[in-house]
Amino acid sequence: MTGNFDQKLDDALPAVDRTALIRALAAVLPAESLLIEPEQLRPFECDGLPTVRALPLVTVLPDSVAQVQAVVSCCRELGVPIVTRGAGTGLSCGATPVEAGVLLVTSRLDAVLSIDAEARLARVQPGVRNLAISDAVAEHGLFYAPDPSSQLACSIGGNVAENAGGVHCLKYGLTINNVHSVTVLTMDGELVELTVDDLGPDLLAAFIGSEGLFGIAVEITVKLLPTPPAVETLLVAFDSVADCSRAVSTTIAAGVIPAGMEMMDQTALQAAEDFARAGYPRDAAAILLVELDGHASSVAAEREVLEQLMRGAGATSIRCARDDAERELFWKGRKSAFPAVARLKPDYYCMDGTIPRAAIGEVLDYICERSEYYDLPVANVFHAGDGNLHPLILFDANLPGALEKAERLGADILEKCITLGGTITGEHGVGREKINQMAVQFSDAELEQFRRLKRAFDPEGLLNPGKTIPTLKRCQEYRSILSERVA
Ligand SMILES: Cc1cc2nc3c(=O)[nH]c(=O)nc-3n(C[C@H](O)[C@H](O)[C@H](O)COP(=O)(O)OP(=O)(O)OC[C@H]3O[C@@H](n4cnc5c(N)ncnc54)[C@H](O)[C@@H]3O)c2cc1C
Repeated sequence: MTGNFDQKLDDALPAVDRTALIRALAAVLPAESLLIEPEQLRPFECDGLPTVRALPLVTVLPDSVAQVQAVVSCCRELGVPIVTRGAGTGLSCGATPVEAGVLLVTSRLDAVLSIDAEARLARVQPGVRNLAISDAVAEHGLFYAPDPSSQLACSIGGNVAENAGGVHCLKYGLTINNVHSVTVLTMDGELVELTVDDLGPDLLAAFIGSEGLFGIAVEITVKLLPTPPAVETLLVAFDSVADCSRAVSTTIAAGVIPAGMEMMDQTALQAAEDFARAGYPRDAAAILLVELDGHASSVAAEREVLEQLMRGAGATSIRCARDDAERELFWKGRKSAFPAVARLKPDYYCMDGTIPRAAIGEVLDYICERSEYYDLPVANVFHAGDGNLHPLILFDANLPGALEKAERLGADILEKCITLGGTITGEHGVGREKINQMAVQFSDAELEQFRRLKRAFDPEGLLNPGKTIPTLKRCQEYRSILSERVA
């Protein structure tokens, strides 16, 4: 599957002497850390969104910070771009290699370096998997809160670069709210520690979510939270999407902030039920999974209020998980919704936009209308409490024009999010995928500020080129395509 949304990428990158590059890297890396054969490079040709594929000149797998520094030094001297890759689960082509560049994979930097249970901090290398952090600290009664559905595989370095979220970020915040410090290797070879305690401009906040454009995160200290003593998970069914959407905004407006509040429409919940046998009501038009956590007394009080709010919004049934096993089953259905939906059609394209909570109903109606217009089914499963949509567009890339239609439908949805006062990404990032929509979301003056920030961190533009921040030329081209379409 190869899409066309960015075939006309920005200016071609300068040609590189591959032989000189391999010679330089071979002098600083052990042989097993340097991959150069096409069949070795192929597994890294895309991330979780395979619409764009490219083979890098070489792939390197350093196993120490000193090796990362050596790679950066070689690339700087030879003027070779670097794309950093964690686990490659990203959904915006952020870790897609550039053909004239090096792909630097952090998977061997996977040590939990230290745990300070008293200070509730853990120092980890960037290739550590998200779930491995909570596993490592569980014996101290602690956990790491941001929990992307990909948490079994995705790396903390990738989470930092994307400012990843997850089902429990409604109460506990995104990655940015749960990181204490990051040690960044800049393209000029400097190791800089950015922390929440720094005075002056908040460079830690600038780095988190910078999608591999500003530096390479080589060490991360995350904040940990005590495991809540009481948890209740409710499965709430509705016979209309509108009622379900309204229930979300009225809950938050009433001051109840669940740990997580996830919505699935009928296509998504039926697929998840067929896949995970989670006990979802197959005949519901939409469901909410709502998790409350904290001390037992406050959870009980919140549950009472929540149930009233749900009934007031038109809930047709409310079930509370009886025990941990049922709670895990409820979440298993949600967390396996993407692979479950993937069984409905040969391909799916996962979008990621945000909208104000009050606009959930309106945007879902719009998605339904565009889905009919393009004749492509869409399943919706998303972080409703945060207003973070994940429409999954279903298609068959083997049919001529189907991928282009899916991309067009995706772009329509993102541009509708902007119109409704939302954004083009909640947690998956811009990458190469949404680079055109940056020209819709931001003005030229704003984009120029982004370019200046990029130049401040990476003056030569060697880190993850062609991603996230569009060139002026690209913006003009895309805006003119849009205005022709309107005319
Ligand atoms: C089934 C599925 C479900 C998902 N659910 C969620 C979800 O609930 N919430 C969510 O937020 N995301 C979700 N994602 C998207 C993805 O898992 C996240 O974006 C994740 O943070 C990517 O981590 P990664 O290690 O795979 O990064 P990669 O895909 O390898 O890289 C992502 C970006 O980070 C950069 N990067 C990676 N490591 C570093 C580093 N050490 N230093 C600097 N830059 C770096 C890369 O250059 C790239 O731009 C999901 C993906 C899938 C496939």
